[in-house]
Amino acid sequence: MRHYSRLASLNYSISENFYPLGSCTMKYNPVANEAAAQLPGFAYLHPYQDQATAQGALELMHLLEAALCTVAGVDRVTLQPAAGAHGEWTALRMIQAYHQARGERRDQVLVPDSAHGTNPASAALCGFQVVEVRSGADGRISVADLESKLNQRVAALMLTNPNTLGLFEREILEVAEMVHATGAKLYYDGANLNALMGICRPGDMGFDAVHMNLHKTFTTPHGGGGPGAGPVGVKSDLEPFLPKPTIERRNGHFELDEERPHSIGRVRSFYGNFGMLVRAYTYILAMGGDGLAQASEDAVLAANYLRSRLQGVLDLPHDGPCMHEFVASARNLAEHGVKALDVAKGLLERGYYAPTVYFPLIVPEAVMVEPTETESKATLDAFADTVKEVADLARTDPQRLHAEPVSLPVGRLDEVAAARRPVLRWNAASESPTEAP
Ligand SMILES: *Cc1c(COP(=O)(O)O)cnc(C)c1O
Repeated sequence: MRHYSRLASLNYSISENFYPLGSCTMKYNPVANEAAAQLPGFAYLHPYQDQATAQGALELMHLLEAALCTVAGVDRVTLQPAAGAHGEWTALRMIQAYHQARGERRDQVLVPDSAHGTNPASAALCGFQVVEVRSGADGRISVADLESKLNQRVAALMLTNPNTLGLFEREILEVAEMVHATGAKLYYDGANLNALMGICRPGDMGFDAVHMNLHKTFTTPHGGGGPGAGPVGVKSDLEPFLPKPTIERRNGHFELDEERPHSIGRVRSFYGNFGMLVRAYTYILAMGGDGLAQASEDAVLAANYLRSRLQGVLDLPHDGPCMHEFVASARNLAEHGVKALDVAKGLLERGYYAPTVYFPLIVPEAVMVEPTETESKATLDAFADTVKEVADLARTDPQRLHAEPVSLPVGRLDEVAAARRPVLRWNAASESPTEAP
C-alpha cells in the first residue's frame, strides 16, 4: 500500500503544478467535465446499445460536431479519431480518396521543416512521399521554396498556423491560393487552437481539412491522464469521404448513417472516445463562444508576457509578438558549456516540469514554452525568475547545473540505456524507489 501511495505522490500533475510544455498544450482539466462524464446516462452506455435508446448521446455528438464546425470554419466533423496523429492520418486518407475519385495520382505531401513530427509520419503511413518545405529566416514558411515544390504530384500541404514557433503565417491566403491552384488540398494541424479559437478560423484561411485535439485545446485529460480524441473537420468537397458512420438528424431522431459509398470506412472501434466527447462539449458549453475567444486572448497574452520576461535571459531568435507559445534558445549559454538539456534539468530541480527542448528542429538548443490561459501572473513571474536563476547558475557554476537534478527520485539518466535496457522492477534491496536504476 505504501509503495503505491508513495509512487502516486511522486507524480507531477497539471492539477497541482505549472506545466510549461510547448507545442502540446497542457491545459487544466475542469472538474465540471468529469462530473458530466460521470452522469450515469453517459457513463453506463453500452456501445452495442440500440440507437433508439442512446438518443441523448447521439445528440451530444451531433451538437459537439456543430460546435467544432463553428470553431474551425468547416462543414462537417468526424469524432472518431483517437489522437491528433490519428486525425492527421484520417484526413490524409480522405484527401487521398478525393484525388483518387477524380482519377488523379498524387503521391507527395509537403510538410514544413518546423512541423510537428507526427505530420511527416502520418503522411508516410498513408503511403505518401514526404517533401520538406523550408522556413525563412523569420521562422515562417518560405513561399519561394513552396512554389518550387508545388506540382501535379502534390496531394496536400500540411501546415499549422500559428506554426510551431508560435508565429502567425501572415501569407496564409497567398499560400492557400498557390496550393489550390495546383489542385492540391491544404491541411491544418489544429492540435493547438489555443491562439485563435473564437477569433479566426482555419476554414476561413482556406484550409480544406483540420484536426483538433480535444486533449489539448478542449481541456480533456492528456497523455497518461486519459485517452485522446482528435476530431477532423472538412470542407464540403471532402465530406463524401468522411469515416462512417456519420451522425445524422432525421425526422427529429439521431441516427448512425452507414450508407456512405465513398467513405474511407471506420477508423476507430465504435464512435471514438465518447467520454472525452462529453468532457469537451461540457467545456465548450461552460465557456460559450465569448469564453473561448477570451481563453485565446489570455493564452496569447500569457505567452507574450512570459516571452518578454525572458528577454536577455535566453536567446529569442524570432521577433515577437508571438501567439500562444514561443521558442527561446539556450545557445547564449553555450560558452559556459551549458545546453538546453541542462536548463531543462535545472528547472526540474526547482520544481517545474521542463519545457519542450530540441523542438522545433530548426532552432538550435530550442526551449519551447506555452503557459496557457489559466496561469496567473504570479505563476508566470515565479517561473521567469526560476529560468533566470538557472541561467545565472549556468554562468557562475555550470558544474553544479550539470549535476542536477539532485533532489528528484532519479538524477540524470543514461537515456540510451534507459530505452535499451530499462529497469522496470522496484529494487527492494535499495529500500527506496528513489535510487536511480
Ligand atoms: C500534439 C500535437 C500533435 C499530435 O497529437 P497527438 O494527440 O499527440 O497524436 C500534432 N501536431 C501538433 C502541433 C501537436 O502539438
